[in-house]
Amino acid sequence: MTAKTVPVDVFDLVIFGGTGDLALRKLLPGLLRRYADGQIPEASRIFGVARDKLGDADYRARVGEALGRAIGDDAALQAKLPAFLEKLGYFALDATKDEGWEDFAAALGNGDRIHVFYLSTSPSLFVDICDRLRAHGLNGGNARVVIEKPIGKDAASAKVINDAVGSAFAEGQIFRIDHYLGKETVQNLLALRFANILFEPLWNASRIDHVQITVAETVGLEKRAGYYDTSGALRDMVQNHLLQLLCMVAMEPPAALQADAVRDEKLKVLRSLKPVRGDEVTQLTVRGQYRAGASSGAAVPGYLDELGKPDSRTETFVALKAEVDNWRWAGVPFYLRTGKRLSERVSEIVIAFKQIPHSIFDDSAGPVMGNKLVLRLQPDEGVKLWIMIKDPGPGGLRLQHVPLDMSFAEEFGVHQPEAYERLLMDVVRGNQTLFMRRDEVEAAWAWIDPILAAWEAGRDTPKAYTAGSWGPSAAVALIERDGRTWHEDAA
Ligand code: NAP
Repeated sequence: MTAKTVPVDVFDLVIFGGTGDLALRKLLPGLLRRYADGQIPEASRIFGVARDKLGDADYRARVGEALGRAIGDDAALQAKLPAFLEKLGYFALDATKDEGWEDFAAALGNGDRIHVFYLSTSPSLFVDICDRLRAHGLNGGNARVVIEKPIGKDAASAKVINDAVGSAFAEGQIFRIDHYLGKETVQNLLALRFANILFEPLWNASRIDHVQITVAETVGLEKRAGYYDTSGALRDMVQNHLLQLLCMVAMEPPAALQADAVRDEKLKVLRSLKPVRGDEVTQLTVRGQYRAGASSGAAVPGYLDELGKPDSRTETFVALKAEVDNWRWAGVPFYLRTGKRLSERVSEIVIAFKQIPHSIFDDSAGPVMGNKLVLRLQPDEGVKLWIMIKDPGPGGLRLQHVPLDMSFAEEFGVHQPEAYERLLMDVVRGNQTLFMRRDEVEAAWAWIDPILAAWEAGRDTPKAYTAGSWGPSAAVALIERDGRTWHEDAA
């Protein structure tokens, strides 16, 4: 079965950093899939921009090779690849120099076509690129600009980036991408919460005991050592992805599924986060750094050896306890954790409901466990609702905790678009619902900054954990102190 797709309007997409890792591994494969599905009109054009002196044919060959690797033996995509490559062009431009921009602007033209400028480069180039786009009149009403994380390293530097991009483009033209929001499960969270009567009455402190959000990676530094060591897990993952997921769980129902209605509600959540400052930082956060261990059965070095810098205090793991200080969530902890070189690659949100107030079953029935709604974002997107049932068959009434399982891929038998595919098409359509607004990014930093400041001021180093484990034991203690445990998917 093929997913239903509605073609978007004709567009020109320019990828600044078109020869980089993100472009070749995610953006261009995603665009090929959308093209193969018939969503991209034939007259659309895609341009790569980087400093390398390539011609169109060289660029097509380079992209063709990368796409060949990405699509493997998928015959439908292979069949569409040559026509897709024909849509590609290339401009050798240095974002920091004026040379060549005139020709670039002339080639794009200033007609009615939608122009999407995807800044898949280091954020240090955002100002230069936006200034030059404006200087060449490429910031008109049909233009949109997409910016990638990291949007700053704290509230002050995020403001500098936002000011610079905002001086060339209006807020309605700026798409701050957080690809976690493009995942099928995250949108299903919206459907579950707001298209069903079942959950919303339970979605509050009187019925929910706590929420867990885990984004665990098995990889180490890969090729990102230089960037990662200046960032760390709190900036790289919590400030954006995990807090955005928290917002989707905790926000009030927006009046409509419209960009600003949704973003207003998310902003209120971010502004309701109880500040974690000074001494509380030690009690409510755990930071870790991996040591040598094993990943997928192979021995792997520790962070410091991988980095080649023996004194780095950068955290590769964070666990923390957050609270949303408002009427709906009073007293409900949100436990967040993320890290590299963990035991398993998994991203999931767990809504743990409270226990029943009174059990009518005797001891022989076994324990009555709390209901859980588990939304898995990766690897296999889906939703499980854990409920108690009677153990089937004769032999008395014994209880079992089982998941009602809805694995999207199996259930619907369609290719689920990757987050970038969906989000790129949303940019062309001008739909900002799944993109972060400036005030959200700045509110998230305002909550993160005091934690960073306390870590920097303190003398402790991140707690060591073995690669291939679930992080430092202090992260287990963080939740167990409250009489709870991290969710483990037993089925
Ligand atoms: P990358 O592999 O280092 O690619 C950078 C690209 O920018 C290259 O095409 C490079 O080509 C170009 N470039 C560098 N300096 C330039 C200049 N002065 N003018 C024009 N082009 C220039 O980086 P990446 O991994 O693709 O990441 C791009 C952005 O996305 C970063 O902000 C990163 O944090 C973010 N991001 C990446 C990922 C990922 O999976 N890779 C995920 C999330 C976010 P030349 O050197 O030939 O100019």
